[in-house]
Amino acid sequence: MGYTKAEILKALKGEGVKFLRLQITDILGVVKNVEVPESQFEKALDGEIMFDGSSIEGFTRIEESDMLLRPDYNTFVILPDQVEDPSRGRVARLICDVYYPDGRPFEGDPRYVLKRQIERLKRLGFDNMYAGPEPEFFLFLRTPEGLPTVETHDKAGYFDLAPIDKGEEARRDMVNALVAMGFEIEASHHEVAPGQHEIDFKYADALTTADNIATFKWVVKRIALNHGLHATFLPKPIRGINGSGMHTHLSLFKDGENAFFDPKAEYQLSQIALHFIAGLLEHAAGMVAITNPLVNSYKRLTPGYEAPTNIAWSASNRSAMIRIPARRGVGTRAELRMPDPSCNPYLALAVMAAAGADGIERKLLPPPPIQRNIYQMSVREKRKHKIRELPGTLREALEALKKDPVIQEALGEHVYTHFLQAKQMEWDDYRVTVHQWELDQYLAVY
Ligand code: ADP
Ligand code: MG
Ligand code: MG
Ligand code: MG
Ligand code: MG
Repeated sequence: MGYTKAEILKALKGEGVKFLRLQITDILGVVKNVEVPESQFEKALDGEIMFDGSSIEGFTRIEESDMLLRPDYNTFVILPDQVEDPSRGRVARLICDVYYPDGRPFEGDPRYVLKRQIERLKRLGFDNMYAGPEPEFFLFLRTPEGLPTVETHDKAGYFDLAPIDKGEEARRDMVNALVAMGFEIEASHHEVAPGQHEIDFKYADALTTADNIATFKWVVKRIALNHGLHATFLPKPIRGINGSGMHTHLSLFKDGENAFFDPKAEYQLSQIALHFIAGLLEHAAGMVAITNPLVNSYKRLTPGYEAPTNIAWSASNRSAMIRIPARRGVGTRAELRMPDPSCNPYLALAVMAAAGADGIERKLLPPPPIQRNIYQMSVREKRKHKIRELPGTLREALEALKKDPVIQEALGEHVYTHFLQAKQMEWDDYRVTVHQWELDQYLAVY
């Protein structure tokens, strides 16, 4: 792509755009927008729009609240009609980096955190890290008042009169809208659970992919709403039914070639690939709070639902945390299977890059891959293969993060402290809440 300012101004005018939406993502992964009208377009493109950083949870303190939004011209897109009703004027979107008024990049900006890790990989001689995500989500019915439920239409008999599946229809609209916004959709399909869907888009460099995931999530929610449905990226909305993950495929390229591929090596995986995999294994526990950030995330990471619970890698088996898909050559990659779509995509890809880079810098090597179904292994067998478990709760994940200086450093002081503080409060609030389960189990008995 690579638009210039003049080209963007011309497109805005030519397409009759009336509003420009400046998009950023906060530390907890929530997309925030500042919208400016036509009269401010030039100023916005010059990166001179100010916003109050303290209005965003965990972003800045009151004393340093004025922040600048500097748009990345590569992210320019005019929003299609299905996404933004054009009756009040068309809307365009630019993703921004956040700067201090004096021109320094803001350390609390997740996009900056990811950029720093990409720079690190570039210093190690790589062109970039490439990432391809497989986000899953549920489509649930809304009540007549518009409130989300956990009822899926697949089950709800009273919609049987509809000529085709409401969810399939909505998903096709999502794909059409995303394609109109420049996404290359590789596949979209119904998932294992009723009401569950997956849309896969083509891998790209890590920053583009993080931008794509952030955009993908609000577009999917918006289109679902158009259909009277609620799209949720909550990892485990219903007990006993597969949760929603976001498997992430990763590779490094060097001089335009896939640096994970070595046709002569064992498994045809290069030393670089092995170091990278070893780094992911080494820091899995420390980074899982970032890739799986909710109390609810750990209810998906339980045995029996194709979600990993053990820190291991495999050349094929889907029970392992890292799977190496069979493709070789340009498609050689590692699939990290624990992340879920509630994560902040910028921070998640940043910690994956940091873990891999640490493996490369320290020349770490992974243990032999596990080819068997790990769910069927005994505790003793797991111990023999030195297979550790992933943290089982958000609290354990936060404890592991506190013990991992490599991941802390990748996040940077600002993001690390704000993230930890917010998540500790979240855990404490959960811990003191009396849940329905406790009443069901105990109230009548004790
Ligand atoms: P699965 O077999 O686990 O369901 P999918 O085929 O659904 O995997 O998804 C594969 C993902 O991997 C896609 O997003 C695709 O673009 C991505 N991918 C392909 N090649 C590479 C690569 N070299 N590096 C990173 N991601 C890649
Ligand atoms: Mg898939
Ligand atoms: Mg697939
Ligand atoms: Mg899937
Ligand atoms: Mg997968």
